[in-house]
Amino acid sequence: MKKNVKDQWIDLHVHSNKSDGTLSPTALIDLAAEKDIRALAITDHDTLEGIMEAREEAEKIGILLIPGIEISAKYHRGTLHILGYGIDVNSPSLQKKTNDFRRIRKDRNARIIAKLQKLGIDLRIDEMLDDEEGTRSFGRPHIAATLMEKGVVSSMDEAFFEYLGGRGKAFVGKEVLSSKETIDMIHEAGGKAFLAHPSTLNLNGGAFGDYLRKLKKQGLDGVEIYSPANNTRQTQEYEGLCREMDMLVSAGSDFHGENKPDIQLGICYNGEKVKSDKISEEIFSQNPF
Ligand code: AMP
Ligand code: ZN
Ligand code: FE
Ligand code: FE
Repeated sequence: MKKNVKDQWIDLHVHSNKSDGTLSPTALIDLAAEKDIRALAITDHDTLEGIMEAREEAEKIGILLIPGIEISAKYHRGTLHILGYGIDVNSPSLQKKTNDFRRIRKDRNARIIAKLQKLGIDLRIDEMLDDEEGTRSFGRPHIAATLMEKGVVSSMDEAFFEYLGGRGKAFVGKEVLSSKETIDMIHEAGGKAFLAHPSTLNLNGGAFGDYLRKLKKQGLDGVEIYSPANNTRQTQEYEGLCREMDMLVSAGSDFHGENKPDIQLGICYNGEKVKSDKISEEIFSQNPF
């Protein structure tokens, strides 16, 4: 059943506790309803598990659920995350790749924890990452939250700065695909590929435009121009480039619940919610649900 989301509040980038958010998929849908958001994309890192669980609740409440995913890709100057919208959650190729990614995460988490133990921090993998079915996608935010609970650090930022981030004492890198391979993987599953929180590329002006053109050549469909990670000037710059390059436009808060306490569901731009008419209609019309 297609729901009419014309002129409604939307949020197309949220994480559930199937990856590194703290709310269950069902609770996310309920919170969206409370905030009058009529279309939501669950975009967990490397897992499709949350979408199936949220679907039933979304149908019941009348929220348009867009099946999504967020994938990290190879990039050296900052962070490159690519969102897939309207993906087929039953796609065998997507399921296989996300399975592989979760296995890579599992090995990496074990290596991070071993490093922390060597530093004299008492924590065990089984006390924080409980995933018998292997469908959840754990990562550094889970470890950071445990370090906070144990009083080793007093904030998520401190956990990343001292231990888990690129210069932290227990940093372990992660093997990821190239941008082209990531975009192909989303297309193969029937989805549209979007650049998430573009400001995290740490590129300005001409350098950003050049990089976006390269991603477009590789098949990138659109850009998340409305994101709390982008400031007003950046949003305007990205908006102009999208228009000029005929690319699609999306909006998302990157809500993670308590793991990113400064971000609120639905708040995507200038401390406010964004309506569906600001973003590309294709995201809704090509939705498989
Ligand atoms: P991972 O997927 O394990 O590499 O962890 C990356 C995740 O950690 C991303 O969702 C980031 O947004 C999150 N992250 C990075 N730095 C921080 C921070 N300082 N506080 C909270 N979350 C962070
Ligand atoms: Zn995340
Ligand atoms: Fe991201
Ligand atoms: Fe995200």
